[in-house]
Amino acid sequence: MDTEAVDILIAGGGPVGTALALALEGSGHSVVLAEARGADTSGSRSDDTGGARSADTGGAAGAVRNAPTGDARAIALSHASRLILERLNAWSGIAATPIESIHISQQAGFGRTLISAAEFGLPALGYVANYDDLQQSLSAAPCSATRLYGAKLTGFDGSKATMQTREGERTFAPGLTVFADGARVADASGASSYSKDYHQTALVAWVKTAQAHRGRAWERFTPGGPLALLPHGAAYALVWTTGLDRGAQLCALDTPAFLAELQASFGDRLGAFVDAGARSTFPLALRYRREETQPHSLAVGNAAQTLHPVAGQGFNLGLRDAWELARLARDTREPGSDSFIDGYRRARALDRRAGIQFTDGLVSLFSNSDPLLKFGRGAGLLALDLLPFARRFVARRMIYGARALP
Ligand SMILES: Cc1cc2nc3c(=O)[nH]c(=O)nc-3n(C[C@H](O)[C@H](O)[C@H](O)COP(=O)(O)OP(=O)(O)OC[C@H]3O[C@@H](n4cnc5c(N)ncnc54)[C@H](O)[C@@H]3O)c2cc1C
Repeated sequence: MDTEAVDILIAGGGPVGTALALALEGSGHSVVLAEARGADTSGSRSDDTGGARSADTGGAAGAVRNAPTGDARAIALSHASRLILERLNAWSGIAATPIESIHISQQAGFGRTLISAAEFGLPALGYVANYDDLQQSLSAAPCSATRLYGAKLTGFDGSKATMQTREGERTFAPGLTVFADGARVADASGASSYSKDYHQTALVAWVKTAQAHRGRAWERFTPGGPLALLPHGAAYALVWTTGLDRGAQLCALDTPAFLAELQASFGDRLGAFVDAGARSTFPLALRYRREETQPHSLAVGNAAQTLHPVAGQGFNLGLRDAWELARLARDTREPGSDSFIDGYRRARALDRRAGIQFTDGLVSLFSNSDPLLKFGRGAGLLALDLLPFARRFVARRMIYGARALP
């Protein structure tokens, strides 16, 4: 079987891998984007993972797109992510709801704060989009990379990558292999990683309240875990972190009983919860690759770091990974060289570390019922409310990440 040469192979066509393929447009490198999920040629909304044929699409923009994921999670996109998605021609296809303000509080404790976009002269602090919508819009944007759907990376030995496709095995000899597979085969490159199980689950569903949302998001820290309500269309996207057993129990309840539990945890600030859609859960863990240079490969997005969703950082951070990688790749003829990989790693270190520590710190601080910590949290929220510079710090992190856009 022939080995196919390519400058950059992206293994994983989720939102981050697809964004990377778009950002590499005009870089002068040949690019293959390989996604395990099948192609969607029919325009149908059902997942065709089982029966899809692998499809090569290069040049003919939008001829074949990625099959819908059926993933119910909503993603809060930062203002900086909007700017990047606009530059990738993927923003206009996303039905995004602006977040005009965020209310943060803790259950059964003092302290609350309200951060609004108007304070920072922005139209919105961020936007809420559906994961599937985001994915579809990215895969429909014009791109000359060769896109392989139904192509699963099954092996990587540092210089060759093996793909299983419907037509059989294909072997590539990429200058650089970028893992964007959401940590599913992250170990294939031999990189070591850190992992911590939070023993928590994120329950997601859309919910409706008696009152309209008027662009306000709510983050409420409860003893069981953080509960976020994000304005999405005419409803809210709920992301409710709980223990594993409690998550399973909440999923098993009928709608009225579920709404009553939600009301008890969130309180009456929004009036009554009146309806909810299908519920699904995601197990939560922190996983990240250690900062080592691996020959001819690196990782972006969840393959590099998988975070707790409490601060809505995972995709936003991954998109900045993709953007920075593509920016640096324009200035090199050898994206697989150690010096390039090392340079990328160093360029991303601060933002990445800050995202990991900020998110993990929030989980530890707010998932603890110690009375002293509860008092400290209340004081922190009060300080955030009273001190404009502290609010600016938090808001800036939400809007731009640890580093502003280049
Ligand atoms: C409940 C929840 C809420 C969240 N909310 C937010 C939020 O508000 N804001 C935010 O920024 N982030 C949020 N996140 C995180 C965000 O979803 C992830 O960071 C983001 O999806 C990462 O994208 P990715 O492309 O790196 O990985 P993924 O989305 O996991 O995509 C990986 C892709 O790789 C493909 N693949 C897997 N294995 C292979 C293989 N062997 N070969 C080829 N392809 C392969 C998969 O099919 C998939 O398409 C949330 C996460 C959860 C669980």
